[in-house]
Amino acid sequence: MLNLVEIFSSIQGEGLYVGTRQIFVRFAGCNLTCTYCDTPDSRQFSGQALVERTPGERDFIRIANPVAIDSVAQMINSLLTIRHHSISLTGGEPLCQAKMLAELAPKLNAPLYLETNGTLFEQLAVVLPYIDIVSMDIKLPGTSGKHYWQEHHEFLRLAAAKEVFVKIVIAAQSSKEEIHQAFNLVAGIDDTIPVILQPVTPVNGCEAVSPDNMLAYQAQALALLKNVRVIPQTHKLMGQL
Ligand code: SF4
Repeated sequence: MLNLVEIFSSIQGEGLYVGTRQIFVRFAGCNLTCTYCDTPDSRQFSGQALVERTPGERDFIRIANPVAIDSVAQMINSLLTIRHHSISLTGGEPLCQAKMLAELAPKLNAPLYLETNGTLFEQLAVVLPYIDIVSMDIKLPGTSGKHYWQEHHEFLRLAAAKEVFVKIVIAAQSSKEEIHQAFNLVAGIDDTIPVILQPVTPVNGCEAVSPDNMLAYQAQALALLKNVRVIPQTHKLMGQL
């Protein structure tokens, strides 16, 4: 059984695959409490989940949690009536339900794209054989409230066996030192791993990073890494879910 928040078809708004059509499967529960979290409701388990019936039509129905794995697979696969790039397993933190996710994954009929906070490396090992693309965050201590350097290092080492890119959300309060440490962490594993610098969408008192600082951070990153892009959250600009 899986605890879900929602299933729907939409446009990927972040990262290397921005603009692609995906089915989003939002899992409930998260092990972190980032200040800029834009899905705070998904951190908790809830009694119900929303499921879109027709891709892009927003004709949601409510279903009771937890949901049987075969039912989840059927609901996701039934949205593949138009071409989708992949199925985004997102949250919350999908790896909080890793064992169940590993049972669900082989039943899905499209490539699997894992969106993760990049801390639960032991759980990643359980799911990784089924995953095609890993979108891994590196959480900076200034906005996540804690250091996860060791966890991120172990996680990226494992994820590098698959297609992986790293996303780093940068806010005004992010320090130069922690940003540089994140660049060093990726470069120490593989300097060809794409890195996306995402200027924070200001929420919950999180302040936007200045355009000048963003230019400087990208230049610093490019001294260590071969593929560094600056991409904000675009689904909010487009009014998409
Ligand atoms: S890891 Fe993601 S879902 Fe969890 S608190 Fe941070 S931003 Fe929110």
